Amino acid sequence: METCIIVGAGKAGASAAEGLRTGGFDGRILLIGDEPYAPYERPPLSKSVLVSDERHPTYHHEPGRYEELEIEYRGGARVERIDTGKRLLQIRSAGVESWDRLILATGSRARRLAIPGGETCHVVRNFDDALVLRAKLGRGVRAVCIGAGVIGLEVASSARSLGCDVTVVDPADRVMSRSLPDAMAAMLRSKHEEAGIRFLFGSRPAAVADRRVSLSDGTALEADVVICGVGICRNTELAVAGGIKLNEGILVDDRGETSVKGIFAAGEVAEFPVAGGERTVVSETWRHAVEHGALVGRAAAGEAVSYRYTPWFWTDQLGMNIQVAGTFSPDMAIVRRLGGTGAGPMFLGIDAEGRMMAAGGFDAASEMGAAMRVIKRGKPVDRAHLERVDVPLRAILAGKVVE
Ligand code: NAP
Repeated sequence: METCIIVGAGKAGASAAEGLRTGGFDGRILLIGDEPYAPYERPPLSKSVLVSDERHPTYHHEPGRYEELEIEYRGGARVERIDTGKRLLQIRSAGVESWDRLILATGSRARRLAIPGGETCHVVRNFDDALVLRAKLGRGVRAVCIGAGVIGLEVASSARSLGCDVTVVDPADRVMSRSLPDAMAAMLRSKHEEAGIRFLFGSRPAAVADRRVSLSDGTALEADVVICGVGICRNTELAVAGGIKLNEGILVDDRGETSVKGIFAAGEVAEFPVAGGERTVVSETWRHAVEHGALVGRAAAGEAVSYRYTPWFWTDQLGMNIQVAGTFSPDMAIVRRLGGTGAGPMFLGIDAEGRMMAAGGFDAASEMGAAMRVIKRGKPVDRAHLERVDVPLRAILAGKVVE
């Protein structure tokens, strides 16, 4: 009987295990994770887990699902080394396992700031991180969030709802500078400011000590708790030591197979081809972890599959749901749709050929499915139609605009 081992029991690893079985793999499946919990959802960590008394993570599967799929799960186990020639892996204090196929779904860890005191800042990556931070938040607590990305803003929003006095620091000049167009970032910033959250842009932290964050411009912020949300580092060490080819992530083909036959990589640790192989990208979204994980599992089972990536993410802040489909770039024209169809404000990114390439919205979930389909269709759209806020995107998509 063949064995497939999946290293990493996050969303991508759990999805890969399931994809392997549903893809017809009938051998032994061993899913190895280094956390003490069965695979769980990370999106709640910076949101509901911080503002509730949840004692257990929200698990990826219903109880009994692994038994049903005959997936062996081993938690609290750290893989220290892989031998790609002998097809063996070493688990810390737990011996050696052999495999016929291997899926690396090792994800990433929170990046730490390389400044004095940087190691004392909280990060929110795992359920235990969220529990430790939750115990420190409360009315009147001075919280400084370093980084105005998704983690920084979600934690700021949760901390504020608990009555904390919140300041967010970022070297950029706006919030979520990697993913939102200027106009949408400005709207989001003003919503945070209306909720009482302060921003300090254009400065970076230089040191954290004695309940104080010192910034590069000389400002000092009093802080009872400091949270660092400055991005991630991919867990590529096993691949590096195994001689597998890497760029920013582990390089894979459209089926998730690495430069070593029989070894696959899935989720945010993988760098995969897009645009017909023209370039390769990495993605750190929940949806990618689910879809790529499942596809790589099926590929490892022997199915002829090819990954088609659709960038999409959501974030919940200040009680609003914010979604972005596609990728905004600075050269796009931005069409604003400020209400009218029952959805909240939307921002649509149009390229030089008149195609819609990206869409973002506040509480606009009802329009995001149609926006995604317009983006995927890749054809020029009549801008005058997009500007008609009384016309839902799905009507534009169906060609049902009454002039
Ligand atoms: P992020 O979204 O990449 O944001 C990091 C922010 O930190 C950026 O605004 C960055 O600014 C800033 N920054 C970088 N260096 C800094 C410094 N020295 N001082 C202050 N700010 C600095 O990363 P994240 O918020 O830490 O989130 C980490 C990961 O969590 C994401 O990659 C994703 O995998 C996951 N996540 C996803 C979601 C979601 O999809 N809803 C939600 C939460 C977390 P520059 O851009 O100017 O460098």
